Amino acid sequence: MNIAFIGLGAMGYPMAGHLARHHQVTVWNRTAETAERHASEYGTTRAGSLADCATAECIITIVPTSREVDEIVDQLIDKARPGTLWIDATSGDPIASRATAARLRARNIAFVDAPVTGGTPGAKAGTLTVMIGGAKEDALRARAICESFGKKIVHVGEVGAGHAIKAVNNAMMAANMLVAAEGLLSLKKLGFDMSTAFEVLNAGSGRSNVTENLLPSRIVGGEWPLTFKLSLLDKDVRIAASVAHSQHLAAPMLALTSQLFTAALRNLGDGADYIEAAKFVAGLNNENW
Ligand code: NDP
Repeated sequence: MNIAFIGLGAMGYPMAGHLARHHQVTVWNRTAETAERHASEYGTTRAGSLADCATAECIITIVPTSREVDEIVDQLIDKARPGTLWIDATSGDPIASRATAARLRARNIAFVDAPVTGGTPGAKAGTLTVMIGGAKEDALRARAICESFGKKIVHVGEVGAGHAIKAVNNAMMAANMLVAAEGLLSLKKLGFDMSTAFEVLNAGSGRSNVTENLLPSRIVGGEWPLTFKLSLLDKDVRIAASVAHSQHLAAPMLALTSQLFTAALRNLGDGADYIEAAKFVAGLNNENW
């Protein structure tokens, strides 16, 4: 299939590489050198302009937020062919994606939201989990394509459902991060060796992906690489809180987690990695790891 892939960031770059093993892939990236590099690394075709992506049978976007997706839709909607499938792998906003889908549907273009989880290691390995929101027949078409970079692919509901569950997933991880950081900091002040603390917690009922996989290499290993921007997780938690709000639910944990992540972002700045939220928790107490 002829696929246009838009957004070669930390996630999109390897995902488009996996697609190129099975499909003819044209890539476009805001910073053109990245698309140039992708073309020489994976044998993809660099689009001369964004408009060149309009004629593909399938258009895939993975950019920071639904706002950038909509800007791209604005530029392609009049040029895309009826029957095109648009797969938005961005961790976006379900309300925005439903409006985008309606706009595209009026031009006979099908839209599914298909955000992913598994991080950059999953994107590189081609083992992402993909959660698809959309009509059944569109989700089926999307599944066949997402199999290039996904291991577990689930059709979760109508348009927007993928974005909703992705936001909730990330918000749960974010809340785990804050409470784990507070607990571990308490243990550190009590004089615990952090390796011992992780060993015990990870054999107990308090363990989570955060304590098993994310924090040990940072807190014990001292390595704080940038893999997923804090600003993007802040956006995800805000979406999860607004999903709860839209259902008239009281969700104080989501609201507090969202407030704390926004504070962490303001404190640490745009360049920070999401796991540095643990540094923010330490900083609240004038401590460090
Ligand atoms: P990056 O910041 O690494 O990449 C963002 C991509 O979007 C880049 O290609 C960037 O282009 C492009 N972009 C940014 N602004 C615009 C714009 N205004 N117009 C067009 N293109 C633009 O982000 P990630 O790859 O980490 O994340 C992408 C999405 O995937 C986000 O929604 C994120 O929440 C989600 N996600 C991220 C995960 C991760 O672990 N990193 C895991 C799962 C989901 P340029 O190269 O020019 O900057």
